[in-house]
Amino acid sequence: MSSLTASELAAALAARAAAVIPGGVNSGQRRVPGLEELVITATSGATFTDAEGRVYTDYHAAFGPPLLGHNDPDVDAAVAATGRSVDLMGVGVTPVEIELAERLVEAVPSVEKVLLTATGTEATFHALRVARTVTGRRHVIKFQGCYHGWHDAVAMNVISPAEKVGSKDPLSAGILPEVLDATIVVPFNDADAVERALSEHDVAAIILEPIPHNIGAVLPVPGFLERLRSLATEHGTVLVFDEVITGFRHGLGGYQAVCGVTPDLTTLGKAMANGWPVSALGGKAELMDLFSTTPGRPAFFAGTFNGHPATTAAALATVEKLRREPVHEHVFRLGERARTGLEALYARLGVPAVVSGFGSVFVTYFLEGPVVSYDDLLRNDVDLFVGYRRELMREGIFELPLNLKRSHVSYAHTDDDVDRLLEATEVAVTRYLGTRA
Ligand code: PLP
Repeated sequence: MSSLTASELAAALAARAAAVIPGGVNSGQRRVPGLEELVITATSGATFTDAEGRVYTDYHAAFGPPLLGHNDPDVDAAVAATGRSVDLMGVGVTPVEIELAERLVEAVPSVEKVLLTATGTEATFHALRVARTVTGRRHVIKFQGCYHGWHDAVAMNVISPAEKVGSKDPLSAGILPEVLDATIVVPFNDADAVERALSEHDVAAIILEPIPHNIGAVLPVPGFLERLRSLATEHGTVLVFDEVITGFRHGLGGYQAVCGVTPDLTTLGKAMANGWPVSALGGKAELMDLFSTTPGRPAFFAGTFNGHPATTAAALATVEKLRREPVHEHVFRLGERARTGLEALYARLGVPAVVSGFGSVFVTYFLEGPVVSYDDLLRNDVDLFVGYRRELMREGIFELPLNLKRSHVSYAHTDDDVDRLLEATEVAVTRYLGTRA
């Protein structure tokens, strides 16, 4: 019998996946053109290994969770230890849930009380449900370019084609038109548009990523978040910061602790447990106490896996490590080095580029700045954005080759990694531009 080569083995695995998993992947966001045969067999620190045995330095980071690096030993040990002593009971509460909630209340300015669930989507779903409960109102405001998960009220207008900007751009079929109608989409950084929407409609909630990282990193202009805060207060609307990406990654207190604007509700997820499935919804006690976890209260809240002890232990271990070790100092420093290095590189190459980001996050848009709203990103040179990232893979570096996707450094990345990133980016961009000269 002839033995298969590594690449034949990888192709065979991908074919098996495609035969029994629709599209061969378990999330629509993992189906990346050109990477149909990518099968991952291992992760470690700042790297992952594919089924062909190739090792990549990972800047995709699963869309953000492994802030400490993949397979962090402290987090994984906490999961194993807790898993040995207590697993899911589905009644009452466990000490680890209490301890995590206490840590979150201490760290995140808006969080007076907090509920745990498993995914960011669940957290934003419940945020909007309780906002509608307390206000008795129908509409919610979201921003073009922000993503808050896959539920019907928010699954729209993320990376929209130019012709869809300004109208509803649902991510999916099967959403009731009434639900689409009840979500008002406005441009990010346009507080006047928010004010108009608030005066024309009965708005229960304004939900936003304080930095829209689902389109890279569009930074809020000075005063924008402050103005949203005062408009929400003035109109009796619930202000929700979706900090599923920015929480933990930009600081233990989330971006709200950095910018000094305190929302009514906050959603957390992703980096919260360094890759284990945990999310949270927290905020003002008067809102959080409306959930049915308090008997007789009107906003139903449930979930078989909510507060799972092992994954909650992962979150607690992550929080403790963020407090104990200079994680943010490290990732902020490397992020800054990457951004300034890339800026210098593109200036030297004469390639029009805007390098953006915050803390550990960086992204290069290939366009003339400034970048203030999603409309500006329609000028991005998509082919170059995706093309150089495919070339980067040949250099052993992985930045997701999809338009507008951000990259992340973790605590496991090193200065050498950033040096290699800069060298490899120069090679990849130059080679890609050569192919279309
Ligand atoms: N909110 C934001 C800002 C996100 O980026 C995401 C996922 O990418 C979500 C919510 C949904 O989280 P999940 O995929 O865990 O349901």
